[in-house]
Amino acid sequence: MEPRDLSSHTVYRAGRGIEEVARELGLDPDDMVKLASNENMFGPSPRAVEAIRASAERMHSYPKASHTDLVAAIAGEWDCTPEQVWLANGGDGALDYLARAMLEPGDDVLVPDPGFAYYPMSARYHHGGVEEYTLAKEFDFAQTADTVLRDYDGERIVYLTSPHNPTGAEFSRASVEAIAAGTHDDTLVVVDEAYGEFSESESVRPLLDDRDDVAILRTFSKAYGLAGVRLGYALVPEAWANAYARINTPFAASELACRAGLAALDDDDHVQKSVETAAWAREYIREELAADTWKSGGNFVLAEVGDASAVAEAAQAEGIIIRDCSSFGLPECIRITCGTREGTKRAVAVLNDVIEVVEA
Ligand code: PMP
Repeated sequence: MEPRDLSSHTVYRAGRGIEEVARELGLDPDDMVKLASNENMFGPSPRAVEAIRASAERMHSYPKASHTDLVAAIAGEWDCTPEQVWLANGGDGALDYLARAMLEPGDDVLVPDPGFAYYPMSARYHHGGVEEYTLAKEFDFAQTADTVLRDYDGERIVYLTSPHNPTGAEFSRASVEAIAAGTHDDTLVVVDEAYGEFSESESVRPLLDDRDDVAILRTFSKAYGLAGVRLGYALVPEAWANAYARINTPFAASELACRAGLAALDDDDHVQKSVETAAWAREYIREELAADTWKSGGNFVLAEVGDASAVAEAAQAEGIIIRDCSSFGLPECIRITCGTREGTKRAVAVLNDVIEVVEA
């Protein structure tokens, strides 16, 4: 007995966890700064923590009212119908729902290279094939309509990431519209706004009113600090929003996740503090790091450091965990998540020492 042919499937490589690294190096996790997974520098929304504590007694029941209430609240935030909110187990889960709703076996998808590893993984799980469009380093990974349309060949789903992980580059709303207009009527353009709160640009949400071929991905993992509870959603056009009922896993998000999400949505202070600090940290890293960096709309900065794996390893020994971008096909780059002011300053100081030594 064998599973199906998984030889084209890849393994997701997450940034390393603080406990894992601390244990390996014999360091105290409290002395380490983890800036490897674009998590929230202030931790979870305190209101969400309180909501999870308060709802612990309800763990024995399936999430029903909480799911309905959260979907209604998200719909209210975005001025759309509850059906248009496809709640899921993280943004990753929402990507799965979109692939599940769209792909027939053998359909292709178009993903960015470099890019977020889960787009091709999710497509392959759903029997799709994967093609790539190139974001060119020599053009600062610019994301334009032409970048995508040049490589588009009738794929069923086109993934756009704005702000892009790991480069930080963004698509303008006009370029997203041009891509949607320049692709077939039955090509879905998924605009992944996982880092949308950190960007100075507006969401492409208005496109959902005019088009039925654009969907948007959002998550509670970043600005709301809820990566550990797994909560995200897609916003989809009204025309086919009712497909959710036919493809979603029952109880798509847990009771605790839904309660945490509801509380976090009301915690404007936490989001505002996170977004403001990320904006400060992006500037600080770009100004103070002794390496070339790219302008970023997310809560992270990509930097060119030569040998990324050597830099990451040496920084880790000093208690700073950042992301070596080799798995993105950028072995000369690291991605540094925006930390608190203190954490970011310490990380930049350590990285500057390490870069000097590794380069020597
Ligand atoms: N999209 C992008 C570009 C991401 O970087 C991530 C998180 N790594 C996600 C989506 C999904 O995040 P989550 O499943 O935690 O919501």
